[in-house]
Amino acid sequence: MRGVVFLGERELELREFPDPAPGPGEVVIEMKASGMCGSDLHAYRAPRSGGGAGAALGLGGAGGAVIAGHEPCGVIVARGAGVSEAEAPLGARVMNHHYKGCGLCAHCRVGWSQLCRGGITVYGVTGHGGHANYLKAPARTMVPLPDALSFEEGAAISCGTGTAYAALHRMNLSGEHTLAVFGQGPVGLSATLLAAAMGARVIALDIGPERRALATSLGAETVLDPRAADPVEALRELTHGEGVDLALDCSAAPEARAAAVKSVRTWGTACFVGEGGEVKLEVSPDLLRRQVTLIGSWTFSSVGQMACANYIAARGLPLAKLITERWTLDQAAEAYRLFDRQASGKGVFTL
Ligand SMILES: [Zn+2]
Ligand SMILES: [Zn+2]
Repeated sequence: MRGVVFLGERELELREFPDPAPGPGEVVIEMKASGMCGSDLHAYRAPRSGGGAGAALGLGGAGGAVIAGHEPCGVIVARGAGVSEAEAPLGARVMNHHYKGCGLCAHCRVGWSQLCRGGITVYGVTGHGGHANYLKAPARTMVPLPDALSFEEGAAISCGTGTAYAALHRMNLSGEHTLAVFGQGPVGLSATLLAAAMGARVIALDIGPERRALATSLGAETVLDPRAADPVEALRELTHGEGVDLALDCSAAPEARAAAVKSVRTWGTACFVGEGGEVKLEVSPDLLRRQVTLIGSWTFSSVGQMACANYIAARGLPLAKLITERWTLDQAAEAYRLFDRQASGKGVFTL
């Protein structure tokens, strides 16, 4: 089979790998869609000598040729020893919860295997991921894809959209809230879509006109260009001087993170989901004096991934609108060159 490997410094390669065979407890899925996620850009842009994708995201790993893609979605085509037909029916449409933990600890048992202290594999980062014809992973990491959703939508849910869904739950979003979403990439656009569907008033911020237009089409009540006017002031003006109830930063830009915290009202909640980088806050005025809650939220559990997919399927939400580019593996270099500009929606490899 073939798979995409990031070489660093915005270079990648399509390489030949042996077709995977499932070991005990494992399955192989034939990939149908594999999404591109903002955190892939850390690995794509990393220095060549820097230890690969895992090092770029602070997840360990010695480098080496790892197939990229941590939003895998496909069909089960092979089962290893000890995996029953009920657990992994051949032909079943599945997403992959892209982490392997020990399977036994308290975090793993509730579906949060990425929090396992026993050492984790992150598919597409420290283990072979979805930008390939096949993916091998434990049967327990597979999450059923509802019939109503396409493989492309399943890929989106497997990181970006699932991350947005989990963050909204962490913030206890309700229909009474006004939410500001900083950054309208694949995660931010998903947050806009989901929060609007949950009844919230959504104000979406992005520097790119194409992304602002997408946000409007996905349900944002108002869109703002943070370069046109001070976003904190603009958000106060839209909320009778109070500030928003909730703010979610999906951009990972230091100035947007700070603005997200400053833009919430007294007793408000801000949440960061973007990987890497820094933020500068003045603790007393920005947090303490206004009783602000600040949450860091890392992706979602396998249970949360299933809940997100079922929610989107049951409501018939237009998640497909998020996907603005579809690529073949042969187009990977062009696909990441375009994604690197961070100006459009989500790109997905279809196989
Ligand atoms: Zn564990
Ligand atoms: Zn991701």
